[in-house]
Parts: sequence; structure tokens; C-alpha cells
Amino acid sequence: MAKVERAGGTRRVVVLLLGAVLLQLACGDALKSLRGDGTTKGAPPAPHFKPGFNLFTPEQDIEVGRESAQQIAQQVPLLNDGAVVSYVRGLGAKLAAKAPGYKFPYQFNVVATREINAFALPGGFVFVNAGTIAAAKDEGELAGVMAHEISHVALRHGTNQASKAYLAQRGLGALSQIFGGRETDLGQMVGSIGGLGANMLFLRFGRTAERQADLEGARIMADAGYDPRDMANFFQTLEQQSRERVPEFLSDHPDPGNRIAAINEELPSLNVSKSPLHDTPQFDQVKARLVGGQAGALRASEAPARKGPSDPNNMPDSARPAPPANEWREFRTRDGSFAFQYPANWDGLSAANDESNLIFAPKGAYGELNGSVVVTHGIFIGATAPGASDLGEATATFVQQQIDANPDFRLARKPEQINFNGRAGFVTVVAGPSPITGTIEVDAIYTTATADGRLFYLIAIAPEDEYKTYQPAFNHIIGSLQLAR
Ligand SMILES: [Zn+2]
Repeated sequence: MAKVERAGGTRRVVVLLLGAVLLQLACGDALKSLRGDGTTKGAPPAPHFKPGFNLFTPEQDIEVGRESAQQIAQQVPLLNDGAVVSYVRGLGAKLAAKAPGYKFPYQFNVVATREINAFALPGGFVFVNAGTIAAAKDEGELAGVMAHEISHVALRHGTNQASKAYLAQRGLGALSQIFGGRETDLGQMVGSIGGLGANMLFLRFGRTAERQADLEGARIMADAGYDPRDMANFFQTLEQQSRERVPEFLSDHPDPGNRIAAINEELPSLNVSKSPLHDTPQFDQVKARLVGGQAGALRASEAPARKGPSDPNNMPDSARPAPPANEWREFRTRDGSFAFQYPANWDGLSAANDESNLIFAPKGAYGELNGSVVVTHGIFIGATAPGASDLGEATATFVQQQIDANPDFRLARKPEQINFNGRAGFVTVVAGPSPITGTIEVDAIYTTATADGRLFYLIAIAPEDEYKTYQPAFNHIIGSLQLAR
């Protein structure tokens, strides 16, 4: 994140590109909780993530998770074998004791089907398919799958997903309603996203969530006395078995890059026992029951309980703000440092209560969330504190700060020199999935130097699939920009 210190002032302005752009007056916990990926940095850090943006309280996670679990229990056959179920519950409790964050009432059930799968609902309702137990080579591998699922619960990925879907459908206007009145009408919230079935939302996650669940799960394993490499081994086991049957766990868990390598990379930071637990006689007995006698009782579930909507392409269309008007208003700072024209149907907002950091955006494209201003369409314009570095360096630093603030964002186009209304300037493009709407967002960052040696920036923000609609307005704004000489 870019901490922008005002010359001679004490106020700090934190500028964050977060899919949506977040502006906050001070660097605080609220901001971190919005990052969705609060990797702590230091030497050597164990993986540890803070739950992302969420409209639900942890208590509501339990409430919606319980409802979903009841629905699922009617849709899938649950295993009635006391020996197997109590073994899985014991293993689950051992792992859940090492889960971070809110102490959810973790519950474990075994689904009596052959598919290799496991899933977790918000609030701690974890389901492990019998096929997973049968496929695991040892207890460590099964513990790996379960620790991964526990991590989805602890990191609240399900309700994070549901929160994004809710906003995508309702638009940012919903934020002020929700947070303004502290009125979280859960039924309405879930109902409004539930056109697709709320369960669907809770069960499939993006790459960031999967990577977090792998790494947090590896930490849980280590802390519970297991070897995180067994989680990686299970991914290999799945690959080997995938020729015979569809590995559901893989299809529900998109391969986030090289998962095995990522786990191995984290090993030095983990508290792995010198003699970690790989196998137990109890596991072997349970597996023998499933592979032998019980196997006949298992069936392939006829109707998979889920498909769908975590893929952003399957998300409901967002409540899109009105396209930019073709009429213009002029904005001029009181000190005359810069002026420009913007679409007449956009609002101007002062994020820092001064004129050095401003937002111009259409209604429905900005909102307030925990004291931060969130923007999905529009511009973000301002200047940083005076710096010694040259324009190229200052631009590279500024852009890198934006990317660092969100690991899902990537440099889409390297800084290119442009003529910025007669000044030397750069345009750089970064893009990534918006944590607010779940769709790919493109942010074009225009930079130049001000007469008094500051970095002037204009960030043009729009979802990728709407960028064409916004490009003419962005061009007009840039063309109309006047900077003091
Ligand atoms: Zn997962």
C-alpha cells in the first residue's frame, strides 16, 4: 500500500488498489481486514491470513452454515458407520483445535459416496467423502484434506464469497445501507444472492482462497503434529487416480499454480515435528472398512450438490452504474494546482478531506465501508508527497505499491512513456479480480511530475468488460487536465 505523507502535515493518506480502490485516512485494522490477504511479513513468517471482506458476522457464518448443512444432509447420503464417523470426528477436532481466528463449532460428517471430495460450509460444517478416506494413503494425507477445509472455514471464505456476490448484485449502494444502520438483514442478504442457491456460493473458491487454505492448512497440520508434505502427497495421489475417476476435489479446488511447490516453500517457516505423524492403526482400520466391507454401501451421488458460481463468469451481473454522461462539469482545486472536466453524472468525493486525493465516480460505483471509500468505476486523482526520485522511479515505486497491496493484481502493461498534455508522463496498467465484485478490474495509472516535485497520478478504474464504455470518458478527463506549471 502506498502511504502518502503530506508535506508538513501529520495526516497520512493510504492509497490502496484493491481490485476496487480503497482510500483510507489512516492505516488501520479495518484496512487490513479488507485486504483479503493479510500475509504477515517478517522473518520467517508462518503463513497466516486474515479473513477478507465480509458482510456477515462470525455468528451469522454459523447460522447460514447450519442451514446449508441441513439442506446438504437432505441431498447427499451421510455415512452411518459409527467407527468411521467417530474416527473422522476425532481427527477433525484435533486439527480444528489449531485453527486460527474465531472459534467456530467445527462439526465433521462423512458423505457415503465414492467421489474423492471434501467441502466445508461457513461456521464449521465440514463434510468428507468416504472416497477421500479410501483414496488417502495414510492419516497424514487425510489430515491434509481436512486441514485445508478447516482453513476455508477459519478464513471465512464462504461468506466472503457470498458477500462479494451480494455486492455484485446489489451494487455498492448496498454498503451504506448495511453499514450505516448496522442492520444486517441476513435472510434478505442470503435470499437475494440465493437465486442460485446460497450453498453454491459457499463451496467454490478462487485461487487466492485455495492458496490460503493450502498454506494455512499446512500450518494447522504442522501444529497438530503432522507433516504438511502429506497434503502435497495427497494432491499427487489425486493426480494418479484421476485416470480412473473424476477427482471432484480437484475440480472443486482449481489448481492454484503449483500447490505442492508452494507448500514445500512454506516448510521452513512451519513448526514441523522432527517425527511427524504419518499413519495410525486407526486410519488403517477405517480405510479397510471402506475399501472392504463398506465399499459396496457407497454409491456415486446421482446429483452433485454443487456446481457453479464461484467462477466469476457465473456470477450474477453486477448492478452496473449508469454509463458516463456526455456532458461535462469542471473541477478546479482551490489552490489552482490542477483542473479537469468530468462526466456530469459523476460525483466528486474528497477522500482525505482535502484536495490532494480525490475520487470522481458515478452513483453506485462508490461506497463507504468501515470508514474507507470503495470505488469500482471512476477515477482516483491526486498527488503524493514531494520525493527525490525521478519520474520513472517514482512511477515504478507507486505502481509496485499498488500491486503489493493485492497479490491478485498483476502488471498488465509495463510503464510506457506518454506525452501527458505536454508533460513527460507514464501510463501503466494493472489488473486483477476485484474483491468487491469478483470480476476482473483494469486500472490504468497515469503519472507525471508536478511543478513542485510531487508525483501526480490519475487512476482510471473500470471492470474489464466495461472498459470500452469508460475509455472515452477517461480520455476526455485526461485531455482536459490542466496542471500548474
Ligand atoms: Zn479448497
